[in-house]
Formats: sequence, structure tokens, C-alpha cells
Amino acid sequence: MTASPTRAPPPEGAGEAGGAIRPIVAIAHLSKSYRRGDQVVPVLRDITLDIPPGDFIALMGPSGSGKSTLLNLIAGIDKPDAGELRVDGEDITRLAEAELADWRAAHVGFVFQFYNLMPVLDAFENVELPLLLTSLGKRDRRERVETALALVGLSDRMDHYPNELSGGQQQRVAIARAFITDPTIIVADEPTGDLDRKSAEDILGLLRRLNSEMGKTVIMVTHDRHAVESARHVTHLEKGELVAGDGEKVT
Ligand code: ADP
Ligand code: MG
Repeated sequence: MTASPTRAPPPEGAGEAGGAIRPIVAIAHLSKSYRRGDQVVPVLRDITLDIPPGDFIALMGPSGSGKSTLLNLIAGIDKPDAGELRVDGEDITRLAEAELADWRAAHVGFVFQFYNLMPVLDAFENVELPLLLTSLGKRDRRERVETALALVGLSDRMDHYPNELSGGQQQRVAIARAFITDPTIIVADEPTGDLDRKSAEDILGLLRRLNSEMGKTVIMVTHDRHAVESARHVTHLEKGELVAGDGEKVT
């Protein structure tokens, strides 16, 4: 039942043949429970999984199996009860809350099912937001935001507010916001869950480009069979445990 840390081969071009490549995400014996009153509800049990740099991995499993919990642990939104979790060599379980917030801002790009854009900011400002935490000046920020919005095909919607954009367009803004800081990993929780087929294809195409052209490691939770086809590997969670077939190659 435990995932083999070595089963998922690195994607082509990720390193020298035969050489040991340090995983970008290294998870060992990770556990997480939630407390409800005096009840302890185990949500993740003894998760062991390595994700090589440059991978695009899909995390599947029934509703309630712990997918979002695992993704949130990897992204430093939540903390495990036990186990190890390294991202790019850094043991993020040891970081204090404030350090973790800084770490997240620098290393993680987020894409959510319901976009999570700021309604009072237009598309440009939403994408610029993570850059306000960096030392970049106004001119550099503008240049980066314009490039990012061009990449997601929204140069003509920069001054539109979220409620003036379709779901697919909002998710494209969210993708631009996710990669604008050049993060170490991009995590996406059911990024196509609220979209029609065509918009979902656009979003998956963008995630594939971030992965194959920009070399970003993408970790995506999904229910969507089509979405899984965009990934290089797929791993399955059931009742908080990784089950056989983890790390299998998507054909
Ligand atoms: P998935 O994303 O696979 O649908 P989740 O990771 O959201 O699953 O949730 C896994 C389990 O953990 C569910 O049974 C859920 O009810 C429980 N859970 C998630 N978050 C909390 C929380 N904050 N407090 C208590 N239980 C939670
Ligand atoms: Mg979920």
C-alpha cells in the first residue's frame, strides 16, 4: 500500500541518465488527523511519495479520500501530525507559521477550483498581487504581468474584473497569478472542476505548457479523466492511503 519512492521515473530531460535526482517533493510516512470534539479523525495515513522535478502528477481518489489535505500539506497551507515533507530540500514541517507564509509566497503557485480571484481587483491587479511581496519595481511588475497575461491569452482583458470574465477566463487569470513569481511548484486543486469541456481543455493546455515549456513541477488533484491525460503520472488516494498504481505512467 505504500508508494515506492522510486517508482515514478523522472520525466525525460530532467537529469542525467542513471544519476540520482533529488525529488522536488519528498514525502515520508506523513500522517494527518483532524480533531472534532474528543474524536480524532485520521485523514492521511503513512503517505510516502517522491515527486521528481519537472513532473506533472495527477492525484486522484474518491471525495473525502484526503486529496485536498495532502495538496495543502505539500503547499504549506496546513501542517502534518507526523512524517517528513521536504520541498526542494527544505523540511517545511519545521517552519513556524510566519516563515511558512513567506516560504509559500516564494515557492508555491496555487490554482483552485473556484479561481479565488480578488473581486475588487481587475485581472492585471490580481496577477500583480503576489509580486507586491517581492522587491520588483513597478515597471518590472508591469512587464511581467503583461507577459503572463499574454501567455494565457488575456492581453485584451487586463482591466476586466472577475465578474466581467467567464469561468475559463478567470481560471486563466488564476494560472497567470500562479506562475508570476516563478514558484518551485504549482499546485492545482480540481482546476477544471467548474469548467465546461472547452475551457477545461484550455486550462489543461496551459498547465501542460507550464510543465513542458517552463519546466514547472505541477501537482494536480482531479476527478476528471480528461485532466489525468495531461499528467505524466497519476497516483491514487483511498481513505487517506496511497493505493497500488501510484506513480504509474499515463499512456
Ligand atoms: P478530498 O479532497 O479527497 O475530497 P479532503 O482532503 O478535503 O478530501 O478531506 C478528507 C477528509 O478530511 C474528509 O473526511 C473531511 O471531512 C475531513 N476534513 C477535511 N478538512 C477538515 C477539517 N478542517 N476538520 C475536520 N475534518 C476535515
Ligand atoms: Mg478536495
